[in-house]
Amino acid sequence: MRITAVELVRLELELRFPLLTSAGEHRHRPLSLVRIVTDEGVGIGECSALEEPTYTAEYADGAEAVLREHLIPRLLAEGRPSTLEGALARLDPVRGHAMAKAGLEMALLDALLKPRGESLAAFLGADRLSIPAGASVSLGHPEAVCVQVASVVAAGYRRVKVKIAPGFDVAVLRAVRGEFPSIALSADANGSYNLADPGHRDALVAIDDLGLMCLEQPLAAGDLVASTELCRMLDTPVILDESVESRSDFENAVALGALDGVSIKPARLGGLLSARAIHDRAAALGLSCSIGGMLESGIGRATAIALGALRGFDLPGDLGASDRYFVPDLTTQHVLVEGELLVPSLPGIGVTVDDELIDSLAIRRELFT
Ligand code: MG
Repeated sequence: MRITAVELVRLELELRFPLLTSAGEHRHRPLSLVRIVTDEGVGIGECSALEEPTYTAEYADGAEAVLREHLIPRLLAEGRPSTLEGALARLDPVRGHAMAKAGLEMALLDALLKPRGESLAAFLGADRLSIPAGASVSLGHPEAVCVQVASVVAAGYRRVKVKIAPGFDVAVLRAVRGEFPSIALSADANGSYNLADPGHRDALVAIDDLGLMCLEQPLAAGDLVASTELCRMLDTPVILDESVESRSDFENAVALGALDGVSIKPARLGGLLSARAIHDRAAALGLSCSIGGMLESGIGRATAIALGALRGFDLPGDLGASDRYFVPDLTTQHVLVEGELLVPSLPGIGVTVDDELIDSLAIRRELFT
């Protein structure tokens, strides 16, 4: 496999349902796609960085710049690599920028697997044919959140994650629990609680009585010591998301006892291979895994669904059908079938990409050779 060119394509999509979290509102979905052309075929990948640096430090314009100025030139430099490992090793000297690197890894895997006739799910060792879907609903007052939950339950979702923050928590979750006693309910605070605040501490203890499947990232990303204390306080499994950006972050959290499980998002973790390694390690340690979403298009979601078909994913995931995000989507639609999403099975990333739609939506495209 010899890389001959890389195309960087910038899109701006509008989310069908804006998502309000404790970190702010996501309404627009800037997206950088990379097409990697090799002598064997073309692969496509998605950089999932969001519009603003409010989830991790990465954001769309920054990721696009690092792709253009630092990552793509390394792939195309003298003596181009002929293997996946060789190509990925060229990206290592660039610090951070997990989502930009993950986009390139996705495209390289797609380009590698398509000519082999192998799906990403098969390559990753995932053997489930479908995975339970999940829906994330926005932060809000109890009535408004219950309306959102009613709508996703009516659409067929059985697993719902409610975004919470101090002041929008116990009453909200109690109302949802009361109205929908049988759904698998979880909550995601996006790091908005502080154990040093007595009011926050009381709210977290009250949430513990509501029978949640898990409580995701209650404390700030760097507060691992406090997260250890919280894990001891609560019976509800504490899942870390923003705290874990790498394998070493994960190992540090494990050594401290700061988590009961991890939300695995390939984009945040630098790609599918690193995400699979953390899944494998978590499963070996008896820790839980949840497959997470980054409001990806059908491209990134296809790859996350494939990864989520690994057996260690035992907690509700975030991934939903295409119509929760974008209409039309950039690929064949991911649809809900009895509360589940089918694992994409075509060679490469597993779904057919709508290149014409991408071309019609492109606001910027650059070709590097
Ligand atoms: Mg989260």
